[in-house]
Amino acid sequence: MTTRSLKHVIPSMPTSDGAGVKLRRSIGAQRGLYLDPFLMLDEFGTDNPGDYIAGFPAHPHRGFETVTYMLDGRMQHRDHLGNVGDLGPGGVQWMTAGRGVIHSEMPLQESGRMRGFQLWINLPAAEKMKPAAYRDIPAAEIPEVALPDGGTLKVIAGTVEVAGQTVSGPVNGPGRRLSTDPLYLDITLPAGARFEQAIGSTHNAFVYAYEGSLSIGDGAAEKAIPTQAAGVLTPGDRVSVTAGPNGLRAVLIAGKPIGEPVVQYGPFVMNTAEQIEQAIRDYNDGTLASAA
Ligand code: MN
Repeated sequence: MTTRSLKHVIPSMPTSDGAGVKLRRSIGAQRGLYLDPFLMLDEFGTDNPGDYIAGFPAHPHRGFETVTYMLDGRMQHRDHLGNVGDLGPGGVQWMTAGRGVIHSEMPLQESGRMRGFQLWINLPAAEKMKPAAYRDIPAAEIPEVALPDGGTLKVIAGTVEVAGQTVSGPVNGPGRRLSTDPLYLDITLPAGARFEQAIGSTHNAFVYAYEGSLSIGDGAAEKAIPTQAAGVLTPGDRVSVTAGPNGLRAVLIAGKPIGEPVVQYGPFVMNTAEQIEQAIRDYNDGTLASAA
């Protein structure tokens, strides 16, 4: 057993996207700052409607998956396939853009707090042009389990062993294997509590504290990770997270790297420049999201 330690920190940078939604971007903040298969992690969190009210009007995606996890507030997704999904607190939207999706993501509120994450997970070349798919996962379908040392764990994706029981997230539990085999956990710990979990040694992994603070690793290898930063972990087959003096809320995300070239142009992520040019042509021709 090798416990993962901290490899490096990707701080989050304030930025805006869509029609001026303010957010903090860590993974993907600079082009090439990926953690294969993860292309981007945005945290949005504000009590000020002016920071989110304009939302994300209609825009395209091709070549990857977007995972939106709401902590507070409500958003509505509408796409070219006619899907309409209301995303509420604790809910997840898992969208496979594949060949192409054109969708909008707009707030369903005019006041109050809006907070959550959007993660982009790359697709291998063989799956980049597959048909688009979309799934709404309400909060009630996401298992929440009590941790032995206090705190709770929400399993959005992947399978974990907690206090002798096997818990699978709704995204890729039994029979729903994704090629990147993502693990997506939301961890809440009281001050000083520790959370330990096996993570496949084939996976790249990072942890992102959105409240409180944490340290990662065991003994002499234990290292603190600042709040609102992605702590990229070294290889290993297990992880140990210890909450700081004010407790912790964090996401722990891992996935199997794809190991292919990444060429990104905004919302299109392909393997070659030619494929990006094709995506732009298809979008301009109105065929980005039509069946192949
Ligand atoms: Mn989008």
